[in-house]
Amino acid sequence: MPKKVRVRFAPSPTGPLHIGGIRTALFNYLYAKKHNGDFVLRIEDTDQNRYVEGAEQYIIDALDWCGIPYDEGPGKDSGFGPYRQSERKHLYKKYADELISRGKAYYAFDTADKLDFHRKDHEAKGKTFIYNWHNRLKLNNSLSLTSEETKVKIEAGEDFVIRFLTPKDEKLHLKDIIRGAIEIDTNILDDKVLFKSDGMPTYHLANIVDDHLMQISHVIRGEEWLPSLALHQLLYDAFEWDTPEFAHLPLIMKPVGKGKLSKRDGEKMGFPVFPLSWNDSLGYREAGYFPEAVINFLALLGWNPGTEKEIFDLEELVIAFSLERVHKAGARFDPEKTKWFNHHYLQNKTDTGLAELFQLELAKKGIPGHPVNKNYIDKVVSLIKERANFVSDFWDLSSYFFKAPDSFDEKAVRKQWKDDTPQIMNDLVAVLNGIEDFSSENVETLVKEWIGKKELSFGKVMPPLRLVIVGAMKGPHLFDILGMIGKQESISRIQKAISIL
Ligand code: GLU
Repeated sequence: MPKKVRVRFAPSPTGPLHIGGIRTALFNYLYAKKHNGDFVLRIEDTDQNRYVEGAEQYIIDALDWCGIPYDEGPGKDSGFGPYRQSERKHLYKKYADELISRGKAYYAFDTADKLDFHRKDHEAKGKTFIYNWHNRLKLNNSLSLTSEETKVKIEAGEDFVIRFLTPKDEKLHLKDIIRGAIEIDTNILDDKVLFKSDGMPTYHLANIVDDHLMQISHVIRGEEWLPSLALHQLLYDAFEWDTPEFAHLPLIMKPVGKGKLSKRDGEKMGFPVFPLSWNDSLGYREAGYFPEAVINFLALLGWNPGTEKEIFDLEELVIAFSLERVHKAGARFDPEKTKWFNHHYLQNKTDTGLAELFQLELAKKGIPGHPVNKNYIDKVVSLIKERANFVSDFWDLSSYFFKAPDSFDEKAVRKQWKDDTPQIMNDLVAVLNGIEDFSSENVETLVKEWIGKKELSFGKVMPPLRLVIVGAMKGPHLFDILGMIGKQESISRIQKAISIL
């Protein structure tokens, strides 16, 4: 029977998750759901110097907001917990010891100063210091010392680390679902520290041990971890454990130029790189994106369905997703395209739902009075949403539904406001005054009748009327606007404009 699919997202709580992290979580989630598997969240907090308060909660909140919650993880133990490595501290030493007894790892007593000295010394000679087969016997470790000497040092409480004994002259054949076969010569690898002098495992040891204990079947993570794959494979072999399958996701690249997308790119170009705001950094949520839009654009960063289809909700993604269709090449991030996705999801929301969001914005702006009731706002939304990418665009697109314009577009005034316009507008006021039923349709019929009777051209009436009602040559069907703001308001705007212009 094939192994149950169990994948994990294993962030380190060193700060807010970048959207690249969310993309990794999403691909894990999709893979798990596609194969009826489990999506595990594991918090890799062994590096206590880099621990950032609040980062773990941020990760959980971000997954939640995106709609890709974990099945197992902190607070949701399914028998594989705890899910924070700091709470699993007691587990790792045993495995480091096991590697020592298997002859796959060794104690090293070199002080930080000494290692620093070697590093600088090598640098001065134009070389790089690598702790491995070619110098390990000249360094201060249990391979160069006798077992008696080693024992004495340990019993005396001397600081030590445990290093992996990288095999010499081996060709490793690694496999990655996305990248295919990879061959590595073990002689280029260094003897990585597995266990630190502070009693904590390093990322490599903890990661392998936990993936094994948590029965992870597939490791899906960012390309930046590809260089660690050789060591991880060697560790699985050293323990004689089954190796999970690996898939290293392509980097997310800057919108322009070379290199991977960074927080600075977002700041420079004014787009978020975090799902939720964190201190001064804007999040997608706060920027007015819908989680569906974020999920949709992230899914297409490095994966494609093999068709032209671009709009996918989460369920469709689960069906369409496969690791085989994830590409190797970096995926260029396009901030404009993210807006296009949001536009799409915004159009699909109900007017009532959008109106509720808009009402919060109106309240913040302190827009009172006028016919501001639920139906009115629903109607406004239905008339302007087509031009909006975000709910935050609504106000600029619709302020004239709530208050008279406080200025008039100068270019439009020059073009539309002629010598005879005030007279025409005055006559129009009289017409509007006489209309009982001020519905959009009725006003339209009667005003058009009047234009016809007076043998006026539409161009002499409609553009200046739009200008005085809206303040600029924009907006939906003008009679809809008149019907919405009502007779009194329409007339008062015209009169006010006549006196100003
Ligand atoms: N803790 C690592 C990170 O912060 C996890 C890498 C992995 O998935 O193996 O990304």
